[in-house]
Parts: sequence; C-alpha cells; structure tokens
Amino acid sequence: MNFDKVVEGSAVTIHSRGLESLKRQNLISYLKELVNHQSITPCDAGLIEMLAADLNSLGFEVDTFERNQVKNLIAKRHFGVGPTLAFSGHVDVVPARLEAWHTNPFEASIQGGIIYGRGTTDMKGGIAAMMSATRALISSRDDLSGTFYWLLTSDEEGEAECGSKLIAERLKNDGIVLDACLIGEPTSNHRVGDTIRNGRRGSISGSIQFTGKAGHVAYPEQTINSAHVAGQLIPRLLTITWEKEPINTNLQITGINTSTNLDNIVPDLCVVNFNIRYSHLYSSQEVIDKVKGVLSVDEKAFNLTWSRACEPYSTPKRSDNCFLNLMEESIFENIDRFPLINTIGGTSDGRFFANGHTQVVECGVRNNSIHQANEHVSIDDLIKIEQIYSSVLSKFFGKNDSSNCKNNQRSVE
Ligand SMILES: [Zn+2]
Repeated sequence: MNFDKVVEGSAVTIHSRGLESLKRQNLISYLKELVNHQSITPCDAGLIEMLAADLNSLGFEVDTFERNQVKNLIAKRHFGVGPTLAFSGHVDVVPARLEAWHTNPFEASIQGGIIYGRGTTDMKGGIAAMMSATRALISSRDDLSGTFYWLLTSDEEGEAECGSKLIAERLKNDGIVLDACLIGEPTSNHRVGDTIRNGRRGSISGSIQFTGKAGHVAYPEQTINSAHVAGQLIPRLLTITWEKEPINTNLQITGINTSTNLDNIVPDLCVVNFNIRYSHLYSSQEVIDKVKGVLSVDEKAFNLTWSRACEPYSTPKRSDNCFLNLMEESIFENIDRFPLINTIGGTSDGRFFANGHTQVVECGVRNNSIHQANEHVSIDDLIKIEQIYSSVLSKFFGKNDSSNCKNNQRSVE
C-alpha cells in the first residue's frame, strides 16, 4: 500500500491540516490496513507483498522468499559509504478468540483515540511507525549515508524456524554484516520509550519421564510409584543455584502428568515438564549440564529430553559506535527522559541477528495488551514511537546529524 493512496480523494482537506496531520492520518491508516490482513502465523495474508511494493516505491531493492508457507523479505537501500542499520519485524500475529473481543480483531477500529485490533502492538504498530519514519527520512533528506535494510518475516510467533533465522543466514551467506539492528517489538511499560531491550534471556524446555511399576494401590509393596520418584526429584530442580545473574534465571515446572490418574492404580509413568528462562551469561549447554548435575545420582530412574532451545543474546554498551547510546539519545529527544534498559520478557528474533559485531536493540510501543483480547495501541503512542524511530534514522544516516555514537562505525561500500 502506497501512502499516497491512503489520502487519495481528500487531498484538499488534508493539505489545510498541515504536513504533520497528513503524516498522522497516513500512519493510522497504514496500521489499520496492516491489521485488516488476517496474518496468523505463518500466513502473511499478502502483507509481505504489500510491504515489498511500498519499500520498492521508496527506492529499496527488495527480495522475498518463502519456506514452509512462511514469507520473508529482505529490502536494501544504499545511500552511500557508511554504517548499516536494519529495521526488523514480523507481520504475523497470534490467533484471537472472537467472543472475547468487543471489536472484530481483524478489522481495526478506533474508539476514544485508541486503535483496537490484533497486532496493533505486537507488532504491526511498530511496522507502521517504521514505514512512516522510513518514508519521512527518504522524502525529506538528501544528505544520507550508509545502508538501510528492512527484514520482515511471517514466522515470529510460531516456531521461528523459517523466518528471521533464515533471513540472518542469507545475510551471512551474502557477506552482509549489520552494524545495528532495531526491532520494533513492544518493549515499553508505562509510557512509550520508557523501556528498551538490549538483549533477551534464553529459554529451554525440558521433560523428564519417570518410569516405575504399575499395580493396585492397596498393594504398594508390589509396585514402584513413578509419581513418588518424581516427587523426590522435583525439589532438586527447584533448588539449583544459578550463580550468574540469579534474578534473570529461573526454572518453572509447567506440568506433571501420570499415565493413569485413577485412584486405585499406582502409575508406572510420570512426566514432569519444565521451562528455564536464563541469563545471557549462560549457554543452553551450561543450563542443561546444571540440571543433569542435580539429577545425575538417579540417572536410571528417568529419561530426560530437551526442546525449544532459544539462545540468549546481549548487546552491551560500547565506548565507541554505541547503538544503545544512539537509541537513548533518540528517546531522550522525544520524551525527555532516558529509557530503562533490560533483557526481560520472552524470546525474540533479536537472537538471530545479534553477534560479536551487530548491535541489536528492541524498542516499541507499550506491551500492556500484547496477545490479549482487545489488543490496542493509542494514537498518541503510535505517533510517539514514530518520532523516536525518525530520530534514530536521522542520527544514523544523516551526514550532518550530530550523535556521539556514529564515530568509527564499520563502513561499507
Ligand atoms: Zn512480536
């Protein structure tokens, strides 16, 4: 969807309201258009094609590719020698239970300055704001340097095996090293810009299957109760000492199931499921080793399996070319305060782009209604995040913009 099309037919009225008002209307209309495409993972509902066309109209070279129904986009606009920044996002959303909503989740509606609809915060609001900021930069500046990428997928809310992971692989195979990557996930808490993420914790799920011997509960001496064995070992899981950043590392039992669940049978099988969210100071292997360590004495009594490992990532502050500093400056410029920087929340696609060189930061609207019924974003918040993204782009690509973070950025032709 081209911005120009949104205002077609109402140019006279909008002209009188001034440029800012026009931009505001376009931004709102764009978000509504994104929400109205029912893009539940992995379906993109045509959004990748729509965004590809819009980026193309802004001078980006666009490449799209599909894997297992997931659609991905890599778009590039080269302004000249200078650092490389990517905007990253996902067009897919989680499902919505219609009965729980007071509006149609896939037909954006505005009530009292609030836009309701699935994805308004996670993260179509971010994408709409990023597109508006991108358009503003390209249409108003001719003193830009560097290379600007857009990286989009329709597989962030799912398994994430065919989305940003593959995009990052493509970039690597093509020898492209990003200096910085900004992800528009909703990170703000009480006020837009009050919180950003410079990393995410890791996550891994474990399942322990305890095997015993079934029998009548009245004759326990003839049985081995698998639930009792599990009950003895669970406390060991809960008392593991996580020396590194204990506040950011936590094991939670997520399920305990027996094979029978009848009151006259001793179960021969008990499965305990758990998930661990852990600090970036641990690798998944270290986490696995710690769990094995506390269970090892009874190794024969159970079978331990692991799944859904998501490695953590972290972008520390740097003395030069610090993208975190640039983000802080951009936020301060717009809300008059510096953001809190942390790594809480679930996992994100940031883990695929972060590496020894690429600085990944996540910054977006408030996350108070993500994945909930009646997900919403206020128009004021949408405008504010667009202003923050615009500041980031100006500072990063503007040759004449001052920022103490641009020096010594890796330069590419
Ligand atoms: Zn998201």
